[in-house]
Amino acid sequence: MDALLGNYNRAPVTFVRGEGCYLFDDQGRRYLDFIAGIAVCALGHSHPWIAQAVSEQARTLVHVSNLYYQEPAGTLARELVDRSGLARVFFCNSGTEANEAAIKLARKRAFRRDEKDRMTILACTGSFHGRTYGALAATDNAKYQEGFGPMPAGFAFTPFNDVAALEKNLDERVAAFIVEPVQGESGVHPATPEFLAAARRLCDARGALLIFDEIQCGMGRLGPLFAFQRFEVTPDVVTMAKALANGLPIGAMLVAECAADALRPGDHGSTFGGSPIPCAAALAHLRVRDAIDLASYVAVREVQLMARLTDLALAFPNAIDGMRGIGLLAALQLKEKYPVGDVVTALREAGVLVGSAGGNSLRFAPPLVIGEEGIDEAYDALYDVLAKLDERKEPILAG
Ligand SMILES: *Cc1c(COP(=O)(O)O)cnc(C)c1O
Repeated sequence: MDALLGNYNRAPVTFVRGEGCYLFDDQGRRYLDFIAGIAVCALGHSHPWIAQAVSEQARTLVHVSNLYYQEPAGTLARELVDRSGLARVFFCNSGTEANEAAIKLARKRAFRRDEKDRMTILACTGSFHGRTYGALAATDNAKYQEGFGPMPAGFAFTPFNDVAALEKNLDERVAAFIVEPVQGESGVHPATPEFLAAARRLCDARGALLIFDEIQCGMGRLGPLFAFQRFEVTPDVVTMAKALANGLPIGAMLVAECAADALRPGDHGSTFGGSPIPCAAALAHLRVRDAIDLASYVAVREVQLMARLTDLALAFPNAIDGMRGIGLLAALQLKEKYPVGDVVTALREAGVLVGSAGGNSLRFAPPLVIGEEGIDEAYDALYDVLAKLDERKEPILAG
């Protein structure tokens, strides 16, 4: 493993197998996966329908490039269009690429409309949109940008969930306003419905595109397939990735009719984008969702998860500062004196994998197929670890 570049803070564990909501390491130890590869494995690990779709596609057609058509991409695009009500789909390989495409689309649209001064990409404070330059410039995180300057010009920020500030900042120079309906990376902060509704109204009034980054909060994590369907505000562009193919690399940008002709032949592209195997996996993912009515199931599990986390927040006021969440995406904010990394480690050692997020928060994004007993298992582990913190009032890990 020492040949891998040291750009990640990896935990000292090597996974060899996954099954449902559990992962197994090379020592044969079992872990409850309560982060699902950062909101990726919505159907858990090694789902048989996904495995079958991938292996069948691997034996049929793996790659032809975007010089030609192939069926999985066309069929998946049609499914996403029918289910979203948007008009066209561009496929790429990751979330950051989907956002790059959206940024380029927004600027090219203004260019085609002869709006020379309309270039600004307006994003929110606390945002995360990815690690490539355009997406990074739209990301409000000094640590992620540090040392990588200069950032591309033409990016600006407006306070998240502040309608009055948005009124002021979303002016005629804004090509697009990009917002996560739920900010994941910054600590699981849902947008208010008023903020998203105001964004829709102001984008219409001022001629800007409204982009929802649903890379983390979409694909059923809030229940409905799209996060915007829960907030009942329809954007012009939706970016997707993470869970779309349940673990295979894929990104997508969905575009409404009003912006669909901004990118024309030769304007943008990707060698692997929409390649047959990830598309086949994504189609299988959609079929599973339908077959088990995952949207209704998530609504039930959401109630249980939020109740358990509320319970923990009330039980351990010395350790926990607050709790946030929507759908099966949630966070427990820890007191400053308990570094989240130590708690993540303690939970892993107790056999439960969780993530961290901004604001010293534990982040939870279990597979959407998590059972009632899976949430209880995570609760029990959290209870034990947090009880120790709450009592000892000192860092849980020595040193
Ligand atoms: C993960 C994430 C991205 C970046 O996706 P990658 O596939 O890692 O490039 C962008 N936006 C949001 C909201 C994300 O959660």
